[in-house]
Amino acid sequence: MNESAADSPSSMQPEEFRRLGHRVVDWIADYRTRVSSLPVQTRTAPGDLLAALPTSPPEEPEGFEAVLHDLDALLVPALSHWQHPRFFAYFPSNGDLASVLGDFLSTGLGVLGLSWQSAPALTELEQRVTEWLAQMSGLSPAFRGVIQDTASTCTLLALLSARERSTNHGAATTGMQHGGPPLIVYTSTEAHSSVEKAALLAGFGRAHVRRIAVDAARALDPAALDLAIRADRAAGLRPCAIVATTGTTATTAMDPLTACARLAAEHAVWLHVDAAMAGSAMILPECRALWEGVEGADSLVVNPHKWLGAAFDCSVYYVRDEEHLVRVMSTNPSYLRTAVDGRVRNYRDWGIALGRRFRALKLWSLIRTHGVAALRARLRRDLANARWLATQITGTAPWRLLAPLQLQTLVVRHEPTGMSAEQLDRHTLAWLEQVHQSGQAWLTPTQLDGRWAVRISIGALATEHEHVADLWQLLQACVR
Ligand code: PLP
Repeated sequence: MNESAADSPSSMQPEEFRRLGHRVVDWIADYRTRVSSLPVQTRTAPGDLLAALPTSPPEEPEGFEAVLHDLDALLVPALSHWQHPRFFAYFPSNGDLASVLGDFLSTGLGVLGLSWQSAPALTELEQRVTEWLAQMSGLSPAFRGVIQDTASTCTLLALLSARERSTNHGAATTGMQHGGPPLIVYTSTEAHSSVEKAALLAGFGRAHVRRIAVDAARALDPAALDLAIRADRAAGLRPCAIVATTGTTATTAMDPLTACARLAAEHAVWLHVDAAMAGSAMILPECRALWEGVEGADSLVVNPHKWLGAAFDCSVYYVRDEEHLVRVMSTNPSYLRTAVDGRVRNYRDWGIALGRRFRALKLWSLIRTHGVAALRARLRRDLANARWLATQITGTAPWRLLAPLQLQTLVVRHEPTGMSAEQLDRHTLAWLEQVHQSGQAWLTPTQLDGRWAVRISIGALATEHEHVADLWQLLQACVR
């Protein structure tokens, strides 16, 4: 008899996989059903789980049953629950189960995209599904998409592309030795930390990131941007890229893209739009005014693994000039060349990693299973819930909404009269701690102008009006 995988004790056979796989699916379905009864935030202490895990791997088989056992006994108690209906922290990271199934299929197929040839369907589905998302979001077909792991990676790609356009591919050839005055990146004081990290990784240096002032709505001030660019040019420096944000992390502020695009064109700098969180909202025609001007961007990132519902990780990077991106990122070693290279997309040349997962499957599964209308309806539900809570807060002194409500994130403070700024900070952190101690909701603190506030991000898949109404009761109880 030929030796095959079936004889190997170190690989699971399809029949055993079938039996255990059903149990895993049951486990996940049960988890999603009962998650609302668990405390949303874990009470585990740092090191608790580590102390419970064996320090060495088993020499003899323990079987998958042991994994399932420890999942319940050790891991779940050490997890906070992002799919909980009273999860209001960070941002909605919605692993819709239709998308989870697509992710299973991707993993089960076990194919790798190294070139079109290595997995043609992986490439072509990714092309089609990113076209779908662009269409759903009202973007023109001039934007070409690729799925990356995270927005941080996409912003790094944008800054690498900007650097190479400004240096006519000089930095790619001679690295840090390319000479010439420093290249400068512009972004608002409210931009995500991934912008500064990308500038660091792309060799700009933190000192060459200009943090531009924001207006009262915490959106980038284009007049300040204009001044900064002109000052750098006058000083002999080279303005290279603007990173504007559609939906900042702290308050969902919307940078003015039309003005940014005009300045980008005038000064020949790259415009990258970070719409990691708020990009999902653009499937709603009524929200698109918030990124008016986006067509003037050179690149754009949207994370369907946030509010839209795709299982993490699924971050879509759009570029207008795909040839430029490929020129910046391509390597083309002989062992990866194929006869069809001139006629196909080789997505390895659209990003950093060579090997790619079949990520398109989870986005495709999400969109096909539900249809765009249902995805829109869910987002509208969340917007309505956020508006409802905003009305309660603004109508109930001394609660305050600290930033205009743009989408589904509220930034709030309870401000009893007579408190100093320090007392107010202590009060804010104290009632937030009460909320967390209750196990009934999970929110995130944030600092605005150096003072603590609390972010309430609405939009977990399971969050209905009743959960938001419960949260409002809980908040009022916790400040008492
Ligand atoms: N940009 C914005 C505006 C974000 O809100 C976030 C995440 O919170 C990121 C970038 C980083 O996203 P990722 O984790 O996909 O790198």
